[in-house]
Amino acid sequence: MSKHALVLMSGGLDSTTVAAHALREGWEVRGLCIGYGQRHAREIDSAKAVAAALGVPLHVADAAFYGGLAAHSALTSEAHAVPSGRAPEAMAETIPVTYVPLRNTFFVTAAAAALESWMLARIEEEGIEPASLHAAVFVGANAIDYSGYPDCRPEFYEALERVLRLGSKLGSAYGVGIGIEAPIIRMSKAEIVAHGVALGAPLHLTWSCYAGGAVPCGTCDSCLLRAAGFAEAGVADPALAR
Ligand SMILES: [Zn+2]
Repeated sequence: MSKHALVLMSGGLDSTTVAAHALREGWEVRGLCIGYGQRHAREIDSAKAVAAALGVPLHVADAAFYGGLAAHSALTSEAHAVPSGRAPEAMAETIPVTYVPLRNTFFVTAAAAALESWMLARIEEEGIEPASLHAAVFVGANAIDYSGYPDCRPEFYEALERVLRLGSKLGSAYGVGIGIEAPIIRMSKAEIVAHGVALGAPLHLTWSCYAGGAVPCGTCDSCLLRAAGFAEAGVADPALAR
């Protein structure tokens, strides 16, 4: 069985841990980082640094148009402020304004398209037996610490996996499913930190902050969850020491 992984890499703690996880599990890994017209593109620099540190080839795709379509979000429009200083309970109460309309659906579909193209080339150009191929998109989605996002839930990925099988040539002509692997979806942030550290993931290169700035703001939901995760895991955040 040859295992092919297309890992969505945002430069953050979660996707970096997932990339290291896929490598450790013996997948041949390619990374995809999508610029989606977000207000702050600092994370793309982190994704490049993380991929280089892991030795993973990274494709940086420019999908800047997406932010213009998915404009009702604090991450794509200046008309909405990034929430600051919120308690964890308040974060999980409603779907937050940092939700970007159907972003994960778009991301996973784009990654699946790249993965399907990779697999079709292997089958149709290299003559690889389809039954020997195992292909999956890896995502750093997490449903535990921050349950406000509908597109971070396990049932969403189960449904999307079915869509990808039905809608792809790889699935319908060759019987090869495009799996979606979300290895940290049920971990707490502290467990993700511990897992990343155990894997030797380059967490010092990651960027999680929703705000733009030379250093993380420390007060957005993402910064607060990250800080709480490192504190609970008993690990100093190596990105802050730089
Ligand atoms: Zn922040």
